[in-house]
Amino acid sequence: MAGLADMEAISRNVLSIRARIADACRRADRSPDEITLIAVSKTFSMAAVEAAIRAGVCHFGENRVQELATKCTEAPGHWRGGNRTWHMIGHLQRNKARDVVRFADFFHALDSSRLARALNERAETEERVLPCLVQVNISGEVSKFGLHPDEVAPLFDEVARCERIRVEGLMAMTSLHAGPDKIRREFRNMRTLFDAFPTQIAPNISMQQLSMGMSRDFEEAIEEGATHVRIGSALFGERIR
Ligand SMILES: *Cc1c(COP(=O)(O)O)cnc(C)c1O
Repeated sequence: MAGLADMEAISRNVLSIRARIADACRRADRSPDEITLIAVSKTFSMAAVEAAIRAGVCHFGENRVQELATKCTEAPGHWRGGNRTWHMIGHLQRNKARDVVRFADFFHALDSSRLARALNERAETEERVLPCLVQVNISGEVSKFGLHPDEVAPLFDEVARCERIRVEGLMAMTSLHAGPDKIRREFRNMRTLFDAFPTQIAPNISMQQLSMGMSRDFEEAIEEGATHVRIGSALFGERIR
């Protein structure tokens, strides 16, 4: 993943994904400015990240804290004084809360009040506010992380007391083996859940961002209202692990 050919492929892929985002926006009567493309660089090298940066990508996503810490030390995010934005998009164990608070600009996988309290405590120590999204299990798959839709409002009661956390919206992943109809339904259910909340729920909780859509389904996600799409393999190639 370090050869010149691969680097050229990444910049071509960035262009084609941007074009597909623009097309999906046109179909949905939205502006591409509303969409944040997060390049999911997990398992890929810094050279790949740099190639995406050269192609104009500013947002990166990782699902392991250690890998995020390593990469964002080399190409710092806003919180570390740089000009990238590093998104921690994967499930987090509470004992890793400190590293997320130290390194990430944004956390997409808030899914329990215990985790909220742990992040809040760490953010207090680091003297910062951590922007988060609440992960919802929209697929109904037992193995998936995220809250049942009915559990989201109760979590907000807890988060309202966590001043160092700022919830800006929701995040979801569609079922791994779902066909197009089911994926579409899951995105619509997410959008319905999102719209059912008031825009401002508490001083530190608002519904502005909807992170959904990956390589295989980001166009449908945009048509259904996504503001953040998380794209890995369509940009960087197939992952080995
Ligand atoms: C890996 C990952 C992605 C990107 O998946 P692709 O299919 O490679 O685009 C998006 N979101 C999360 C949470 C991930 O872990």
